Amino acid sequence: MKDKDCALCNDTGNEYFSYLFGMYVFDVTKAIEVIKATPRGTQVLSKESVEIALGWTRTNEKHVAHVDETIPGIIAFFEHDGIKGHVLIDGHHRAAKCVQLGKEFRVCVLSPEESVACISENNAPKKRKKRAKKHAS
Ligand SMILES: [Zn+2]
Repeated sequence: MKDKDCALCNDTGNEYFSYLFGMYVFDVTKAIEVIKATPRGTQVLSKESVEIALGWTRTNEKHVAHVDETIPGIIAFFEHDGIKGHVLIDGHHRAAKCVQLGKEFRVCVLSPEESVACISENNAPKKRKKRAKKHAS
């Protein structure tokens, strides 16, 4: 459940996922729209892939408790120096929650064409600004 005091829960701006030190910036908001427009089945992400995905990113432990782990993550295809691979671009907190609960984590997979379409033209902001919090005390 969303927490009104959690900055991540309340962040409604566009979401980006930066991969390979910013060489690839995926527009996660766009990827979600692509999946909504073209519904598809989900598949279980292997434990190994979940571990790799979580190893690449930092998750906010408090926020893990707030997310709905039944919403599938998003896997994008990428090709770099002739190496083809897949990367989790959305759902890291949900994946972490599934690990905690001992559940399988399910994902939707973007096609290579859809993945390319979701690479952001503009570089994502380095760090999203956190809204100033006012304390009413
Ligand atoms: Zn949260």
